[in-house]
Amino acid sequence: MQDVVEKVYEQVVGRNRGEAEFHQAVREVLESLDPVIAKHPHYAEGALLERIVEPERQIMFRVPWVDDAGQVHVNRGFRIEFNSALGPYKGGLRFHPSVNAGIIKFLGFEQIFKNALTAQGIGGGKGGSDFDPHGRSDSEVMRFCQSFMTELSRHIGPDTDVPAGDIGVGGREIGYMFGQYKRLRNRYDAGVLTGKGLAWGGSLVRTEATGYGTVLFAQNMLATRKDSLEGKKVSVSGSGNVAIYAIEKAQQLGAVPITFSDSSGYVVDEAGVDLELLKQVKEVERGRVADYVSRRPGARLVTGSSVWEVPVDVALPCATQNELDGDDAATLLRGGCTVVSEGANMPSTPQAVEAFLEAGILFAPGKAANAGGVATSALEMEQNAGRTRWDFATAEAKLAGIMTDIHDSCVEAAEEYGRPGDYVLGANAAGFTRVADVMIAHGIV
Ligand code: GLU
Repeated sequence: MQDVVEKVYEQVVGRNRGEAEFHQAVREVLESLDPVIAKHPHYAEGALLERIVEPERQIMFRVPWVDDAGQVHVNRGFRIEFNSALGPYKGGLRFHPSVNAGIIKFLGFEQIFKNALTAQGIGGGKGGSDFDPHGRSDSEVMRFCQSFMTELSRHIGPDTDVPAGDIGVGGREIGYMFGQYKRLRNRYDAGVLTGKGLAWGGSLVRTEATGYGTVLFAQNMLATRKDSLEGKKVSVSGSGNVAIYAIEKAQQLGAVPITFSDSSGYVVDEAGVDLELLKQVKEVERGRVADYVSRRPGARLVTGSSVWEVPVDVALPCATQNELDGDDAATLLRGGCTVVSEGANMPSTPQAVEAFLEAGILFAPGKAANAGGVATSALEMEQNAGRTRWDFATAEAKLAGIMTDIHDSCVEAAEEYGRPGDYVLGANAAGFTRVADVMIAHGIV
Protein backbone atom coordinates (compact mmCIF):
# COMPACT_ATOMS: atom_id res chain seq x y z
CA MET A 1 0.00 0.00 0.00
CA GLN A 2 1.10 3.58 -0.59
CA ASP A 3 2.45 5.37 2.51
CA VAL A 4 -0.55 7.64 2.92
CA VAL A 5 -2.92 4.67 2.72
CA GLU A 6 -0.78 2.54 5.04
CA LYS A 7 -0.91 5.32 7.65
CA VAL A 8 -4.71 5.40 7.54
CA TYR A 9 -4.81 1.63 7.94
CA GLU A 10 -2.48 1.72 10.96
CA GLN A 11 -4.71 4.35 12.54
CA VAL A 12 -7.80 2.17 12.01
CA VAL A 13 -6.06 -0.77 13.68
CA GLY A 14 -4.96 1.41 16.60
CA ARG A 15 -8.36 2.97 17.13
CA ASN A 16 -10.41 -0.21 16.71
CA ARG A 17 -8.39 -2.75 18.65
CA GLY A 18 -9.31 -6.41 18.24
CA GLU A 19 -11.87 -5.73 15.52
CA ALA A 20 -10.29 -8.10 13.00
CA GLU A 21 -13.15 -8.17 10.48
CA PHE A 22 -13.24 -4.38 10.35
CA HIS A 23 -9.48 -4.23 9.79
CA GLN A 24 -9.84 -6.81 7.02
CA ALA A 25 -12.61 -4.90 5.23
CA VAL A 26 -10.74 -1.59 5.48
CA ARG A 27 -7.50 -3.13 4.26
CA GLU A 28 -9.16 -4.63 1.21
CA VAL A 29 -10.71 -1.31 0.18
CA LEU A 30 -7.57 0.74 0.90
CA GLU A 31 -5.39 -1.66 -1.09
CA SER A 32 -7.65 -1.20 -4.08
CA LEU A 33 -7.25 2.56 -3.79
CA ASP A 34 -3.52 2.58 -4.58
CA PRO A 35 -4.01 3.00 -8.35
CA VAL A 36 -6.93 5.38 -7.77
CA ILE A 37 -4.85 7.72 -5.60
CA ALA A 38 -1.84 7.42 -7.90
CA LYS A 39 -4.03 8.73 -10.73
CA HIS A 40 -6.10 11.21 -8.66
CA PRO A 41 -3.99 12.36 -5.68
CA HIS A 42 -6.70 14.74 -4.46
CA TYR A 43 -8.55 11.76 -2.95
CA ALA A 44 -5.82 11.52 -0.31
CA GLU A 45 -6.13 15.21 0.62
CA GLY A 46 -8.31 16.93 3.24
CA ALA A 47 -8.14 13.83 5.47
CA LEU A 48 -10.72 12.27 3.17
CA LEU A 49 -9.44 8.73 3.82
CA GLU A 50 -9.29 9.31 7.57
CA ARG A 51 -12.87 10.56 7.47
CA ILE A 52 -14.25 7.72 5.36
CA VAL A 53 -12.94 5.02 7.73
CA GLU A 54 -14.45 6.70 10.81
CA PRO A 55 -18.20 6.16 11.37
CA GLU A 56 -20.24 9.35 11.57
CA ARG A 57 -22.04 7.97 14.61
CA GLN A 58 -21.98 4.74 16.64
CA ILE A 59 -24.87 3.81 18.87
CA MET A 60 -24.62 0.98 21.39
CA PHE A 61 -27.42 0.14 23.79
CA ARG A 62 -28.83 -2.28 26.35
CA VAL A 63 -31.67 -4.53 25.20
CA PRO A 64 -33.43 -6.10 28.20
CA TRP A 65 -36.23 -8.60 27.54
CA VAL A 66 -38.19 -11.29 29.38
CA ASP A 67 -38.36 -14.90 28.14
CA ASP A 68 -41.44 -17.16 28.29
CA ALA A 69 -40.37 -18.52 31.68
CA GLY A 70 -40.22 -15.01 33.15
CA GLN A 71 -36.43 -14.82 33.19
CA VAL A 72 -34.79 -11.51 32.27
CA HIS A 73 -32.07 -11.41 29.58
CA VAL A 74 -29.81 -8.55 28.54
CA ASN A 75 -28.45 -8.31 25.02
CA ARG A 76 -26.40 -5.63 23.37
CA GLY A 77 -27.80 -3.53 20.50
CA PHE A 78 -25.82 -1.64 17.84
CA ARG A 79 -26.44 0.80 15.06
CA ILE A 80 -23.48 2.22 13.21
CA GLU A 81 -24.36 5.21 11.04
CA PHE A 82 -21.26 5.13 8.91
CA ASN A 83 -21.63 7.53 6.01
CA SER A 84 -24.49 9.75 4.83
CA ALA A 85 -22.84 11.46 1.85
CA LEU A 86 -25.16 9.83 -0.68
CA GLY A 87 -28.41 9.63 1.30
CA PRO A 88 -29.98 8.38 4.52
CA TYR A 89 -27.98 5.66 6.26
CA LYS A 90 -29.15 2.31 4.87
CA GLY A 91 -28.27 -1.21 5.84
CA GLY A 92 -29.55 -4.29 7.59
CA LEU A 93 -29.84 -5.48 11.17
CA ARG A 94 -28.15 -8.75 12.10
CA PHE A 95 -29.31 -10.83 15.08
CA HIS A 96 -26.67 -13.47 15.74
CA PRO A 97 -24.56 -14.46 18.77
CA SER A 98 -21.36 -13.50 16.89
CA VAL A 99 -22.42 -9.85 16.61
CA ASN A 100 -20.12 -7.28 18.23
CA ALA A 101 -18.94 -3.75 17.43
CA GLY A 102 -16.25 -4.98 15.01
CA ILE A 103 -18.65 -7.13 12.99
CA ILE A 104 -21.20 -4.32 12.67
CA LYS A 105 -18.44 -1.87 11.75
CA PHE A 106 -17.10 -4.10 8.99
CA LEU A 107 -20.60 -4.60 7.62
CA GLY A 108 -21.36 -0.88 7.82
CA PHE A 109 -18.10 -0.03 6.05
CA GLU A 110 -18.84 -2.48 3.21
CA GLN A 111 -22.34 -1.07 2.99
CA ILE A 112 -21.06 2.44 2.13
CA PHE A 113 -19.48 1.27 -1.12
CA LYS A 114 -22.14 -1.33 -1.92
CA ASN A 115 -24.87 1.27 -1.60
CA ALA A 116 -22.88 3.73 -3.71
CA LEU A 117 -22.61 1.08 -6.44
CA THR A 118 -26.41 0.77 -6.57
CA ALA A 119 -26.67 4.48 -7.52
CA GLN A 120 -29.90 4.69 -5.52
CA GLY A 121 -29.05 7.63 -3.25
CA ILE A 122 -28.44 5.71 -0.02
CA GLY A 123 -25.73 6.13 2.60
CA GLY A 124 -24.15 3.28 4.58
CA GLY A 125 -25.11 1.88 7.98
CA LYS A 126 -25.56 -1.40 9.79
CA GLY A 127 -26.88 -2.64 13.10
CA GLY A 128 -27.90 -5.63 15.08
CA SER A 129 -27.58 -7.53 18.29
CA ASP A 130 -25.90 -10.57 19.80
CA PHE A 131 -29.41 -11.97 20.40
CA ASP A 132 -29.87 -15.52 19.05
CA PRO A 133 -33.39 -16.03 17.65
CA HIS A 134 -32.83 -19.78 17.16
CA GLY A 135 -34.99 -21.86 19.45
CA ARG A 136 -36.90 -18.80 20.70
CA SER A 137 -40.69 -18.69 20.57
CA ASP A 138 -42.54 -16.09 18.50
CA SER A 139 -43.48 -14.17 21.61
CA GLU A 140 -39.88 -14.10 22.85
CA VAL A 141 -38.72 -12.82 19.47
CA MET A 142 -41.49 -10.21 19.58
CA ARG A 143 -40.55 -8.96 23.04
CA PHE A 144 -36.90 -8.78 22.05
CA CYS A 145 -37.73 -6.84 18.85
CA GLN A 146 -39.94 -4.42 20.80
CA SER A 147 -37.22 -3.74 23.34
CA PHE A 148 -34.60 -3.33 20.58
CA MET A 149 -36.83 -0.87 18.69
CA THR A 150 -37.67 1.11 21.83
CA GLU A 151 -34.12 2.45 21.78
CA LEU A 152 -33.47 2.27 18.01
CA SER A 153 -36.56 4.36 17.23
CA ARG A 154 -34.80 7.45 18.63
CA HIS A 155 -32.19 7.26 15.91
CA ILE A 156 -33.99 6.22 12.69
CA GLY A 157 -36.54 7.67 10.27
CA PRO A 158 -37.41 7.51 6.55
CA ASP A 159 -34.99 10.37 5.73
CA THR A 160 -32.44 9.65 8.48
CA ASP A 161 -31.61 5.97 8.77
CA VAL A 162 -33.52 3.07 7.24
CA PRO A 163 -32.71 -0.41 8.62
CA ALA A 164 -33.71 -3.72 7.01
CA GLY A 165 -32.96 -7.39 7.60
CA ASP A 166 -29.74 -9.40 7.55
CA ILE A 167 -28.82 -12.74 9.16
CA GLY A 168 -31.48 -13.59 11.78
CA VAL A 169 -33.79 -10.76 10.77
CA GLY A 170 -36.55 -11.53 8.24
CA GLY A 171 -40.16 -10.52 7.66
CA ARG A 172 -41.28 -11.63 11.14
CA GLU A 173 -38.71 -9.49 12.96
CA ILE A 174 -39.22 -6.48 10.65
CA GLY A 175 -42.97 -6.76 11.39
CA TYR A 176 -42.51 -6.71 15.17
CA MET A 177 -40.06 -3.82 14.93
CA PHE A 178 -42.31 -1.83 12.59
CA GLY A 179 -45.27 -2.33 14.92
CA GLN A 180 -43.30 -1.01 17.87
CA TYR A 181 -41.90 1.96 15.91
CA LYS A 182 -45.42 2.94 14.79
CA ARG A 183 -46.74 2.70 18.32
CA LEU A 184 -43.92 4.80 19.80
CA ARG A 185 -44.04 7.50 17.12
CA ASN A 186 -47.76 7.46 16.32
CA ARG A 187 -46.77 7.75 12.65
CA TYR A 188 -47.18 5.37 9.74
CA ASP A 189 -43.68 6.00 8.42
CA ALA A 190 -43.70 3.15 5.91
CA GLY A 191 -40.23 4.09 4.67
CA VAL A 192 -38.51 3.71 8.04
CA LEU A 193 -37.77 0.02 7.52
CA THR A 194 -37.49 -2.12 4.39
CA GLY A 195 -38.20 -5.80 3.93
CA LYS A 196 -41.76 -5.16 5.11
CA GLY A 197 -44.69 -7.50 4.42
CA LEU A 198 -46.51 -6.97 1.13
CA ALA A 199 -49.73 -5.91 2.87
CA TRP A 200 -48.05 -3.05 4.76
CA GLY A 201 -45.65 -1.33 2.40
CA GLY A 202 -43.27 -4.10 1.35
CA SER A 203 -42.03 -4.47 -2.20
CA LEU A 204 -42.40 -7.46 -4.44
CA VAL A 205 -38.97 -9.02 -5.21
CA ARG A 206 -37.37 -7.69 -1.99
CA THR A 207 -37.31 -11.20 -0.48
CA GLU A 208 -35.72 -12.68 -3.59
CA ALA A 209 -33.49 -9.72 -4.47
CA THR A 210 -30.15 -10.54 -2.84
CA GLY A 211 -30.00 -14.11 -4.12
CA TYR A 212 -31.40 -13.22 -7.54
CA GLY A 213 -28.93 -10.33 -7.87
CA THR A 214 -25.94 -12.52 -6.97
CA VAL A 215 -26.82 -14.94 -9.76
CA LEU A 216 -27.60 -12.14 -12.25
CA PHE A 217 -24.15 -10.72 -11.50
CA ALA A 218 -22.58 -14.11 -12.26
CA GLN A 219 -24.56 -14.24 -15.50
CA ASN A 220 -23.30 -10.75 -16.44
CA MET A 221 -19.70 -11.82 -15.74
CA LEU A 222 -20.09 -14.97 -17.83
CA ALA A 223 -21.50 -12.91 -20.71
CA THR A 224 -18.16 -11.05 -20.91
CA ARG A 225 -16.66 -14.42 -21.87
CA LYS A 226 -19.52 -15.28 -24.24
CA ASP A 227 -20.71 -17.91 -21.77
CA SER A 228 -23.81 -18.40 -19.59
CA LEU A 229 -25.08 -20.32 -16.57
CA GLU A 230 -26.93 -22.83 -18.75
CA GLY A 231 -25.99 -26.36 -17.68
CA LYS A 232 -23.43 -25.22 -15.08
CA LYS A 233 -23.06 -27.12 -11.80
CA VAL A 234 -23.37 -24.75 -8.85
CA SER A 235 -22.52 -25.02 -5.17
CA VAL A 236 -24.29 -22.74 -2.71
CA SER A 237 -23.49 -22.33 0.99
CA GLY A 238 -26.07 -21.24 3.54
CA SER A 239 -29.78 -21.97 3.53
CA GLY A 240 -31.26 -18.61 4.47
CA ASN A 241 -32.97 -16.09 2.32
CA VAL A 242 -29.93 -15.32 0.15
CA ALA A 243 -29.08 -18.98 -0.54
CA ILE A 244 -32.67 -20.04 -1.30
CA TYR A 245 -33.25 -17.33 -3.90
CA ALA A 246 -29.79 -17.74 -5.41
CA ILE A 247 -30.76 -21.39 -5.99
CA GLU A 248 -34.11 -20.31 -7.47
CA LYS A 249 -32.59 -17.85 -9.96
CA ALA A 250 -29.77 -20.25 -10.88
CA GLN A 251 -32.38 -22.90 -11.70
CA GLN A 252 -34.42 -20.41 -13.75
CA LEU A 253 -31.29 -19.67 -15.80
CA GLY A 254 -30.69 -23.35 -16.51
CA ALA A 255 -27.94 -24.07 -13.96
CA VAL A 256 -27.98 -27.00 -11.55
CA PRO A 257 -27.41 -26.04 -7.89
CA ILE A 258 -26.47 -29.14 -5.93
CA THR A 259 -25.59 -27.95 -2.41
CA PHE A 260 -26.65 -25.78 0.53
CA SER A 261 -25.62 -25.75 4.19
CA ASP A 262 -26.15 -24.59 7.74
CA SER A 263 -24.02 -24.75 10.89
CA SER A 264 -24.68 -28.52 11.20
CA GLY A 265 -23.11 -29.35 7.81
CA TYR A 266 -23.79 -29.28 4.10
CA VAL A 267 -26.18 -31.15 1.85
CA VAL A 268 -25.24 -32.56 -1.56
CA ASP A 269 -28.12 -33.39 -3.84
CA GLU A 270 -26.56 -34.47 -7.12
CA ALA A 271 -29.97 -34.60 -8.82
CA GLY A 272 -30.33 -30.86 -8.20
CA VAL A 273 -31.82 -29.14 -5.16
CA ASP A 274 -35.57 -29.65 -4.65
CA LEU A 275 -36.39 -26.01 -4.04
CA GLU A 276 -39.97 -26.54 -2.88
CA LEU A 277 -38.78 -28.96 -0.20
CA LEU A 278 -35.97 -26.62 0.87
CA LYS A 279 -38.43 -23.71 1.19
CA GLN A 280 -40.83 -25.89 3.18
CA VAL A 281 -38.06 -26.93 5.60
CA LYS A 282 -36.42 -23.52 6.04
CA GLU A 283 -39.16 -20.94 5.48
CA VAL A 284 -42.25 -22.74 6.75
CA GLU A 285 -40.89 -25.09 9.42
CA ARG A 286 -37.77 -23.02 10.36
CA GLY A 287 -36.00 -26.41 10.47
CA ARG A 288 -32.43 -27.66 9.87
CA VAL A 289 -30.89 -28.90 6.62
CA ALA A 290 -31.00 -32.48 8.02
CA ASP A 291 -34.80 -32.28 7.77
CA TYR A 292 -34.38 -31.95 3.99
CA VAL A 293 -32.15 -35.03 3.75
CA SER A 294 -34.57 -37.21 5.70
CA ARG A 295 -37.27 -36.48 3.08
CA ARG A 296 -35.19 -36.50 -0.10
CA PRO A 297 -33.85 -39.84 -1.41
CA GLY A 298 -30.34 -39.48 -2.81
CA ALA A 299 -29.44 -36.35 -0.82
CA ARG A 300 -26.56 -36.62 1.69
CA LEU A 301 -25.67 -34.59 4.76
CA VAL A 302 -21.91 -34.12 5.12
CA THR A 303 -20.56 -32.96 8.44
CA GLY A 304 -17.10 -31.91 9.58
CA SER A 305 -15.87 -30.58 6.23
CA SER A 306 -16.49 -27.73 3.86
CA VAL A 307 -19.08 -27.45 1.08
CA TRP A 308 -16.28 -26.10 -1.15
CA GLU A 309 -14.83 -29.61 -1.53
CA VAL A 310 -17.64 -30.45 -3.99
CA PRO A 311 -16.35 -29.96 -7.58
CA VAL A 312 -18.50 -27.40 -9.42
CA ASP A 313 -18.34 -24.80 -12.20
CA VAL A 314 -19.78 -21.97 -10.13
CA ALA A 315 -19.58 -21.28 -6.37
CA LEU A 316 -21.99 -18.96 -4.56
CA PRO A 317 -20.96 -18.33 -0.93
CA CYS A 318 -24.23 -17.19 0.67
CA ALA A 319 -23.66 -17.93 4.37
CA THR A 320 -21.40 -15.53 6.29
CA GLN A 321 -18.05 -13.74 6.53
CA ASN A 322 -14.80 -15.66 6.09
CA GLU A 323 -16.56 -18.95 5.32
CA LEU A 324 -14.25 -19.70 2.37
CA ASP A 325 -10.51 -19.69 3.06
CA GLY A 326 -7.36 -20.08 0.96
CA ASP A 327 -7.45 -23.88 1.12
CA ASP A 328 -11.11 -23.93 0.08
CA ALA A 329 -10.27 -21.63 -2.84
CA ALA A 330 -7.46 -23.97 -3.95
CA THR A 331 -9.84 -26.94 -3.73
CA LEU A 332 -12.51 -25.14 -5.76
CA LEU A 333 -9.97 -24.16 -8.42
CA ARG A 334 -8.63 -27.74 -8.64
CA GLY A 335 -12.21 -28.94 -9.10
CA GLY A 336 -12.62 -26.69 -12.14
CA CYS A 337 -14.54 -23.77 -10.66
CA THR A 338 -14.36 -20.68 -12.91
CA VAL A 339 -16.97 -18.38 -11.36
CA VAL A 340 -17.42 -17.19 -7.75
CA SER A 341 -20.14 -14.68 -6.94
CA GLU A 342 -20.47 -13.66 -3.27
CA GLY A 343 -24.03 -13.58 -1.93
CA ALA A 344 -22.81 -13.04 1.65
CA ASN A 345 -20.75 -10.11 2.92
CA MET A 346 -16.98 -10.79 2.75
CA PRO A 347 -17.37 -14.62 2.70
CA SER A 348 -13.92 -15.14 1.11
CA THR A 349 -10.80 -14.56 3.20
CA PRO A 350 -8.05 -12.33 1.72
CA GLN A 351 -6.06 -15.49 0.86
CA ALA A 352 -9.05 -16.93 -1.02
CA VAL A 353 -9.60 -13.68 -2.93
CA GLU A 354 -5.93 -13.61 -3.87
CA ALA A 355 -6.09 -17.20 -5.13
CA PHE A 356 -9.15 -16.44 -7.28
CA LEU A 357 -7.62 -13.28 -8.75
CA GLU A 358 -4.34 -15.03 -9.43
CA ALA A 359 -6.14 -17.85 -11.23
CA GLY A 360 -7.91 -15.28 -13.39
CA ILE A 361 -11.38 -16.70 -12.78
CA LEU A 362 -14.52 -14.55 -12.65
CA PHE A 363 -14.68 -13.41 -9.03
CA ALA A 364 -17.37 -10.99 -7.81
CA PRO A 365 -16.96 -9.46 -4.35
CA GLY A 366 -20.07 -9.26 -2.17
CA LYS A 367 -20.29 -5.50 -2.21
CA ALA A 368 -21.06 -5.70 -5.93
CA ALA A 369 -22.64 -9.14 -6.28
CA ASN A 370 -25.03 -8.98 -3.33
CA ALA A 371 -26.05 -5.34 -3.76
CA GLY A 372 -29.38 -6.39 -5.29
CA GLY A 373 -30.89 -6.72 -1.80
CA VAL A 374 -30.21 -3.20 -0.66
CA ALA A 375 -30.94 -1.85 -4.15
CA THR A 376 -34.41 -3.36 -3.94
CA SER A 377 -34.76 -1.86 -0.46
CA ALA A 378 -34.21 1.50 -2.13
CA LEU A 379 -36.92 0.58 -4.63
CA GLU A 380 -39.17 -0.22 -1.66
CA MET A 381 -38.43 3.24 -0.21
CA GLU A 382 -39.25 4.77 -3.58
CA GLN A 383 -42.62 2.99 -3.70
CA ASN A 384 -43.37 4.02 -0.10
CA ALA A 385 -42.57 7.66 -0.84
CA GLY A 386 -44.84 7.58 -3.89
CA ARG A 387 -47.57 5.63 -2.03
CA THR A 388 -47.55 3.14 -4.87
CA ARG A 389 -46.79 -0.50 -5.58
CA TRP A 390 -45.18 -2.07 -8.61
CA ASP A 391 -45.90 -5.55 -9.92
CA PHE A 392 -43.32 -8.34 -9.74
CA ALA A 393 -42.16 -7.97 -13.34
CA THR A 394 -41.55 -4.22 -12.95
CA ALA A 395 -39.55 -4.61 -9.75
CA GLU A 396 -37.57 -7.54 -11.14
CA ALA A 397 -36.72 -5.67 -14.35
CA LYS A 398 -35.44 -2.74 -12.27
CA LEU A 399 -33.32 -5.10 -10.17
CA ALA A 400 -31.85 -6.72 -13.29
CA GLY A 401 -31.05 -3.29 -14.74
CA ILE A 402 -29.30 -2.20 -11.54
CA MET A 403 -27.22 -5.41 -11.41
CA THR A 404 -26.10 -4.89 -15.00
CA ASP A 405 -25.20 -1.26 -14.25
CA ILE A 406 -23.18 -2.33 -11.19
CA HIS A 407 -21.42 -4.97 -13.24
CA ASP A 408 -20.57 -2.50 -15.99
CA SER A 409 -19.33 0.12 -13.49
CA CYS A 410 -16.96 -2.47 -12.00
CA VAL A 411 -15.67 -3.47 -15.42
CA GLU A 412 -15.08 0.16 -16.44
CA ALA A 413 -13.31 1.08 -13.19
CA ALA A 414 -11.08 -2.01 -13.38
CA GLU A 415 -10.09 -1.00 -16.91
CA GLU A 416 -9.56 2.64 -15.96
CA TYR A 417 -7.16 1.68 -13.17
CA GLY A 418 -5.21 -0.84 -15.22
CA ARG A 419 -6.50 -4.21 -14.01
CA PRO A 420 -9.14 -5.36 -16.53
CA GLY A 421 -11.34 -8.16 -15.18
CA ASP A 422 -10.47 -7.43 -11.53
CA TYR A 423 -13.93 -6.93 -10.02
CA VAL A 424 -12.47 -6.35 -6.54
CA LEU A 425 -10.56 -3.30 -7.70
CA GLY A 426 -13.48 -2.30 -9.93
CA ALA A 427 -16.10 -2.42 -7.15
CA ASN A 428 -13.92 -0.66 -4.59
CA ALA A 429 -12.73 2.05 -6.97
CA ALA A 430 -16.17 2.75 -8.44
CA GLY A 431 -17.89 2.73 -5.03
CA PHE A 432 -15.19 4.83 -3.37
CA THR A 433 -14.99 7.55 -6.03
CA ARG A 434 -18.78 8.06 -5.96
CA VAL A 435 -18.77 8.60 -2.20
CA ALA A 436 -15.53 10.56 -2.15
CA ASP A 437 -16.64 13.03 -4.83
CA VAL A 438 -19.75 13.88 -2.81
CA MET A 439 -17.82 14.11 0.48
CA ILE A 440 -15.51 16.63 -1.20
CA ALA A 441 -18.53 18.60 -2.49
CA HIS A 442 -20.00 18.69 1.04
CA GLY A 443 -16.84 20.15 2.59
CA ILE A 444 -15.20 19.08 5.83
CA VAL A 445 -18.09 17.48 7.71
N1 GLU B 1 -28.49 -6.82 4.80
C1 GLU B 1 -28.50 -6.58 3.39
C2 GLU B 1 -27.11 -6.20 2.94
O1 GLU B 1 -26.14 -6.70 3.49
C3 GLU B 1 -29.60 -5.62 2.95
C4 GLU B 1 -29.60 -4.27 3.58
C5 GLU B 1 -30.81 -3.43 3.25
O2 GLU B 1 -31.68 -3.85 2.50
O3 GLU B 1 -30.87 -2.30 3.77
O4 GLU B 1 -26.90 -5.45 2.02
